[in-house]
Amino acid sequence: MRDTLFSGPEPDPARDAGHLDAPPRVGFFTDTSVCIGCKACEVACKEWNALPEDGMALTGMSYDNTGGLGASTWRHVAFVEQPVPAGRTELPLVERDTGGGATERTGADASGMRWLMSSDVCKHCTHAACLDVCPTGSLFRTEFGSVVVQEDICNGCGVCVPACPYGVIEQRPTDGRAFKCTLCYDRLGAGQEPACAKACPTESIQFGPLDELRERAALRVDQLHEAGVTEARLYGHDPDNGVGGDGAFFLLLDEPEVYGLPPDPVVTTRDLGAMWRHAGTAALSLVAGAALSFALPALTRTTRTKGRR
Ligand code: SF4
Ligand code: SF4
Repeated sequence: MRDTLFSGPEPDPARDAGHLDAPPRVGFFTDTSVCIGCKACEVACKEWNALPEDGMALTGMSYDNTGGLGASTWRHVAFVEQPVPAGRTELPLVERDTGGGATERTGADASGMRWLMSSDVCKHCTHAACLDVCPTGSLFRTEFGSVVVQEDICNGCGVCVPACPYGVIEQRPTDGRAFKCTLCYDRLGAGQEPACAKACPTESIQFGPLDELRERAALRVDQLHEAGVTEARLYGHDPDNGVGGDGAFFLLLDEPEVYGLPPDPVVTTRDLGAMWRHAGTAALSLVAGAALSFALPALTRTTRTKGRR
């Protein structure tokens, strides 16, 4: 049972949106433990969707020259380059000879640095605030459960941008229209998987029915924990989280903040229902007050007239 229209568990957002013959909900499981940072997903997304380039300037802070998700970058491979925090087990695990015939399993990089890679994307939230606030119907829920913005209907008002708890959707500076990942809606309709998942050489980006992906992800976490990578955890998989669960969820090797992800996102329209109720009550009070201000003097006059008789 859902908490309100805008929050709480929602098992089937596509049917709730009116797609009565909706197929099983699909999405992404991105396993960052096998991402090699090749950016093939970024390139495939740009090519398939004919996205404009966003400059080739290096940030000077990282080998990542894209920087983040944006109107022209619908897939972004985040590079986290930093000294290995004390006590962390790093991937890839390798057998190292420690002498006397003994071996140990350890991280491969002896430089003291670690490289975490993670391909980020729109989360296709179960409760999508971007969709809730769109005044033109440009954003809509598809039969696959994903959230799509239609560039020919967007009027550039920009209200979806601050509504997204993940900072995903962005207006294009040239004309103000908002853009983000469509989960390759055109490819799904043709029975094909999204271009980014198709291009990923390590299967870090896995596409499919969400229920299957969640089972696969839980097995992968168990596998990593058994191998000693105890920091492995899932992010965005839980239907009870603040956005009702993400259609794109992740296996991370550290806290979400390390990857630039909010630790506990909440749908920004969660309290809209309560706000409308309060606004309605306030409006009724104003109307009642105005009516009384006319009625009371009239009543007073009537009472005085009767008293004089
Ligand atoms: S991540 Fe942001 S843009 Fe994507 S569906 Fe959720 S609210 Fe909308
Ligand atoms: S699903 Fe399609 S639009 Fe979304 S990031 Fe992947 S390639 Fe780009």
